[in-house]
Amino acid sequence: MAKPQEPWQILVVGGGYVGMNTALHLQRRLRLRRGEATITVVDPQSYMTYQPFLPEAAAGSLEPRHVVVPLRKVLKRCRVITGTVGALDHDRRRARIEPAEGDPFEMSYDHVVIAPGSVPRILPIPGLAEAGIGFKTVAEAVYLRNYVLSRLDAAASNIDPELRRRALTFVFVGGGYAGIEALGELEDMARAACRYYRGIIPQDMRWVLVEASDRILPEVSQRLGRYTVDRLRARGIDVRLSTRLESCTDTHIVLSDGERFDAETVVWTAGGKPNPILAEYGVPLDDRGRVRSTVQLRVQGMRNVWSAGDCAAVPDVTQGEGAFCGPSAQHAVRQSRVLAHNIVRVLRGHEPKGYRHAYAGSVASLGLHKGVAEVYGVRLHGLPAWFMHRSYHLMWVPTVNRKVRVLSDWTLALFFRREAVNLGQFADPRASFRAAAGGAREPARAETVAPVATPESSSAPPDGPDPRPAAKRASSARKAVPAKRAAKKELPAKRAAAKATSGKAPAKRPSKAARKAVAGDEARSTPGSGAQDGQD
Ligand SMILES: Cc1cc2nc3c(=O)[nH]c(=O)nc-3n(C[C@H](O)[C@H](O)[C@H](O)COP(=O)(O)OP(=O)(O)OC[C@H]3O[C@@H](n4cnc5c(N)ncnc54)[C@H](O)[C@@H]3O)c2cc1C
Repeated sequence: MAKPQEPWQILVVGGGYVGMNTALHLQRRLRLRRGEATITVVDPQSYMTYQPFLPEAAAGSLEPRHVVVPLRKVLKRCRVITGTVGALDHDRRRARIEPAEGDPFEMSYDHVVIAPGSVPRILPIPGLAEAGIGFKTVAEAVYLRNYVLSRLDAAASNIDPELRRRALTFVFVGGGYAGIEALGELEDMARAACRYYRGIIPQDMRWVLVEASDRILPEVSQRLGRYTVDRLRARGIDVRLSTRLESCTDTHIVLSDGERFDAETVVWTAGGKPNPILAEYGVPLDDRGRVRSTVQLRVQGMRNVWSAGDCAAVPDVTQGEGAFCGPSAQHAVRQSRVLAHNIVRVLRGHEPKGYRHAYAGSVASLGLHKGVAEVYGVRLHGLPAWFMHRSYHLMWVPTVNRKVRVLSDWTLALFFRREAVNLGQFADPRASFRAAAGGAREPARAETVAPVATPESSSAPPDGPDPRPAAKRASSARKAVPAKRAAKKELPAKRAAAKATSGKAPAKRPSKAARKAVAGDEARSTPGSGAQDGQD
């Protein structure tokens, strides 16, 4: 193909593992300043998320800003568009770009890389769309951290035993590494945080893992999977294998083994599926909805269309005929390098090369100093596995800048405990301002002092922007009491409280059961321990 007068136009759909890394390699290898090519990257977010670090961001071991890579900062010679690619027309070589704001427009391309990744595979379970949350984005990780802490706040500020039980029950559905790591890290964080909550001990919390198959962590061997189950159970986590979530309507959880209980937190980590937007891209898809890629990472039957990562069915030549690479960062990052090199080779008149990588194994963190790993057949657990997890990901996290930031977070954590603070105020930072403008009192800090007593208020979003599904946000909005009405409602309660404290009227006594529960909690808390008394 003769080089045209104009620079080659390369469009990259998605700025995740594959998209960002492909663009990074292309900007290094192409003579962009001399007009050899232009590279445009389109992604709804302005950053790439290093997903394996999300559990640590949720646990507070890593600063959320350090687990993402700002696209404009690293792709200095590329054009970055914050938006989505809505459709591709390969005959005209035109893409429909839908920016996050403003009107859609078209742009041409000579080569296009399709890498919009995967989305959570959500089943039609009653209540799930309203109550559940995924674990794939940094917003979800930060939200969950605040939400878990807000449940501890709620329980510590209430004596109603049912409310406390509901607030302190956390359900995770799906035992892949995303679910296991998220559960392991968050449980570890909450357990450590209990020291700051008078009247709550780790045994008051219930953490439940629901997995439909008879094993967890399909990425590691059966033996290591069983070991992980044992470790989680030894920590008091209720691991239920061969069990499905049947419904979770109105905070009531029903499992297929007949178990029923209340929980306000349902995290859905039961796998992903290729991004459904692929149907608009005019490319051949397999029965699972993945783009049919060749071993050179070209889309089958298309010379200038490329695809890799979670959205693509890339043949795994190390496993023989009919095998495909699994959806993992390990493949995505290596495929992006081959893909970028192949585009450069094709532009310069050479043949593309095949992708070949034998899966090295998996590492997973289960909390601070806890982990499991199976790499090149070597099985590790506990501290060595956790150390390997950290070293491995430090090696792969993109850019030196990120590596230094991550390392400094970890180093700081050697000397100081994690901050167990719920910054749920971010959910609605204008609330106080609105209340002040409306002449009302600043609303009670619902995100720090728990949403008292009602299931509706106790599921209020503690972090923003609210990453919960739109349906859930809408239902919360419907239930929300306007600030002025809330302030009015609050007055009689305040008067009663003032009377009670001034001794003029007896305060209403909590029920016997509730008093017993709190008394029990306090009795079980280590009496006089510095930690329980709020010392670090
Ligand atoms: C919690 C968690 C932990 C994980 N841990 C590990 C691990 O330890 N080891 C491992 O190997 N793998 C791990 N993975 C899997 C790994 O992160 C993925 O396999 C990898 O991110 C896939 O890369 P990708 O580029 O295909 O997709 P992604 O990295 O998801 O990137 C897709 C990008 O496309 C963008 N996009 C979506 N739609 C459009 C559109 N219409 N137009 C433009 N852009 C679009 C998205 O915003 C996103 O930025 C983990 C995943 C999760 C969720």
